[in-house]
Amino acid sequence: MKVATFKSKCHNSTCQLDIYVPVLSDFSYGEFIYGSIDGKLIKYYCGLGCKTWEFVDTVVSEICKDKNRREQGAVIQKIIGLIADRDDKDIYFTRNIYCPKCQTQIKSINFDMKTGLQEYPDLTFTDFERMNQLDKKNRIHELLRQ
Ligand SMILES: [Zn+2]
Repeated sequence: MKVATFKSKCHNSTCQLDIYVPVLSDFSYGEFIYGSIDGKLIKYYCGLGCKTWEFVDTVVSEICKDKNRREQGAVIQKIIGLIADRDDKDIYFTRNIYCPKCQTQIKSINFDMKTGLQEYPDLTFTDFERMNQLDKKNRIHELLRQ
């Protein structure tokens, strides 16, 4: 997916790396940008019509009955980042973007500095989808306990 990028600078004073950060438009309902916690990978994800999202949604809504829909949505987004495919099992995805050099979370983006469009790969769930329903459910329960 092609996403507009904006110029940003790592605010860690000893790093100050210039980074291009992808930002989705306000109209991109159900779409998200995910970054790996080591800052090396940025991926695109659309939850609309995604069977992994639907499954996680069903399990989370059941467990988090006392939470409202917005809070449940935040939990689902978090789980999605934790179950997405990755090469290194310690490096998971979150909705935050981290500096690829020093792993500091990037907090400010200069919206006056659009740098262009960049292609980002989709978040995938091959490993998770290989599990049976019960194992998937147990995995989500386990992640929610952490
Ligand atoms: Zn940095």
